[in-house]
Amino acid sequence: MTKSVCVFCGSAPGVYEEHMSAASALGTLLAEQGIQLVYGGARAGLMGAVADATLARGGRVVGVMPRELERYEVAHQGLSELIWTADLHERKQRMAERADAFVVLPGGYGTLEEALEVISWKQMRLFDKPIVLLDTRGFFQPLVALAESVSRHGFAYARAEALFTVVSQPREVLPALGFKPAPRAEAG
Ligand code: AMP
Repeated sequence: MTKSVCVFCGSAPGVYEEHMSAASALGTLLAEQGIQLVYGGARAGLMGAVADATLARGGRVVGVMPRELERYEVAHQGLSELIWTADLHERKQRMAERADAFVVLPGGYGTLEEALEVISWKQMRLFDKPIVLLDTRGFFQPLVALAESVSRHGFAYARAEALFTVVSQPREVLPALGFKPAPRAEAG
């Protein structure tokens, strides 16, 4: 069975070059490990960078794009599969169904909303899939601090560490998700 990872990340490139290069590095690693990428289907920003890098190494990429966003977000035309959904809610549902694990890269409100939704689904035991935040340039430290505050104030039903893992380098993502390196990567 093909393993599949859903990546949530910004539709903008951000101002620091490390964000685009981390997205590309992750895309390359997914392809090298034979792991399918599921993402929002856009061509721009970090979203485009992770998809382009996976495709460039011969990886499989599934994009899930809502019709209602067609005017704002340009769909990537070179994907292995592009799924159109009626709205954002169906998009998230379809992305979650197709994924064995979730990776969150820096991004805007859309990314944060998607990340918090899967974290809250996991807390509610709607699923038990691994979630990793790639903390490039310390982007997620305020979210880590907020999670600590949520716990300290008694509003969390699970410890943050049980819900998501935070790593700082792209190469740490797949081990944190529990993927074992594919044999061809071990040979090198
Ligand atoms: P952003 O991080 O704001 O650049 O958005 C990243 C992606 O999340 C884009 O593809 C947005 O269309 C998507 N997005 C924004 N809001 C939502 C939402 N409420 N549900 C699902 N996806 C969203």
